[in-house]
Amino acid sequence: MATIRLTTCDNAVEANMIKNLLTNEGITCFLTNENFTSLMPNYTGMMGAGIQIMIDEKDAEKASGFLASRTGEAELTCPNCNSTNVTFGLGLNQFKKIFFILLSALTFTPLSNLKNTFYCRDCKTEFKR
Ligand SMILES: [Zn+2]
Repeated sequence: MATIRLTTCDNAVEANMIKNLLTNEGITCFLTNENFTSLMPNYTGMMGAGIQIMIDEKDAEKASGFLASRTGEAELTCPNCNSTNVTFGLGLNQFKKIFFILLSALTFTPLSNLKNTFYCRDCKTEFKR
């Protein structure tokens, strides 16, 4: 049995709603980073921070299918070229963003404008959902 991250939420309300929906479906899950994210909301979205919903690896397919059906999301495609070769992360200018994250850590100043974005590997464009 391995534990994997299903998704990351920005706030405790959203995370607990998803947790309860998954529990109703018989999928065992738990939340991590809930207190830290509530106390330090400026760091949400940086380096994958946020409230993480953790599930058992064997439930991954069922849980992600259920989550997609609840939110009405189909498979994510690039708005520029309709490719499905899309990833989620720091996107373009990773070194610049990592520099700002280090600067933020060294100066103890939260720079909350650094968010993960969706990134098309085919046409090299960043986009929001
Ligand atoms: Zn594209």
